[in-house]
Amino acid sequence: MDAIGVLMLCPMNNYLEQELDKRFNLFRYWTQPNQTEFLAQHADSIRAVVGNSTAGASADLIDALPKLEIVSNFSVGLDKIDLTRCKEKGVRVTNTPDVLTDDVADLAIGLMLAVLRRICQCDKYVRSGAWKLGDFRLTTKFSGKRVGIIGLGRIGLAVAERAEAFDCPVSYYSRSKKADTNYTYYGSVAELASNSDVLVVACALTPETTHVVNREVLDALGPKGVLINIGRGPHVDEAELVSALVEGRLGGAGLDVFEKEPQVPEELFGLENVVLLPHVASGTEETRIAMADLVLGNLEAHFSSKALLTPVV
Ligand code: NAP
Repeated sequence: MDAIGVLMLCPMNNYLEQELDKRFNLFRYWTQPNQTEFLAQHADSIRAVVGNSTAGASADLIDALPKLEIVSNFSVGLDKIDLTRCKEKGVRVTNTPDVLTDDVADLAIGLMLAVLRRICQCDKYVRSGAWKLGDFRLTTKFSGKRVGIIGLGRIGLAVAERAEAFDCPVSYYSRSKKADTNYTYYGSVAELASNSDVLVVACALTPETTHVVNREVLDALGPKGVLINIGRGPHVDEAELVSALVEGRLGGAGLDVFEKEPQVPEELFGLENVVLLPHVASGTEETRIAMADLVLGNLEAHFSSKALLTPVV
């Protein structure tokens, strides 16, 4: 397969990059000083694209690659890929479901604990020597809090199962009520928020779920409520989130993702009720290797005319 041209869109994982380099004719898009010239020269030899949650196959890129057969995505989220254009052009699409579910759900619970128990502030308190001057103030209990989940998919369900172990009553919002769970269903995000102490965003990012957490939802969550976002930044109207936090209309937030990564609103930096992470929910050695193996396995299956491991389109 070493003659097959594979275009990797940005640096994402060293193991994946090395394995792609060993097995295919790998082009590193981000190293090209002039990407238009590069495409004019090499488009005809590129049969696969590897993207992630930062860089995906846009309609323009798909149109510029006449021999493109497959987009093998190094992420479960598909929001950076123009799926409609892929379908129109007969381009297959794969992602990395399941292998990252545990890590993302673990981190969601970690954020809940970190925000309510002020774990990051406690750590700073010890390191700064402030403990020698007095005890840290009291924080808020997590066990038993009402956890509401937007999107009861693979990750949403894994968050729900973990929250249950903390005796948290779980409820959710999805486009439809799930027949196979006993969790309480609410027919709107605002209704879910007004019945939750902690609201978790775990749905796919689509035009319908962009800004699914808006001012109405934040106000419904209220001054004691906590928002956890381990989905995608654009799920949340970030300007509204910032003002809700700054004005004390929201109790706190644990955020792994942001609207304009890696830009994070600086108004959040001074807030003690906020925990900010650099989009690392699936970022463990183990999971990134499993994700890379899925990307490679899908490409090899496709180019050996075998069934794709995790097909989306
Ligand atoms: P999944 O199993 O496909 O679940 C997606 C969920 O989104 C489904 O439950 C679906 O529910 C819901 N959904 C879709 N459209 C909706 C809408 N209009 N309104 C409400 N809910 C809607 O995917 P997953 O594996 O759990 O991953 C979920 C998302 O997590 C990914 O798309 C990705 O953006 C994000 N993620 C983030 C990280 C990170 O590093 N922070 C890592 C991995 C994944 P219904 O079909 O029942 O409506």
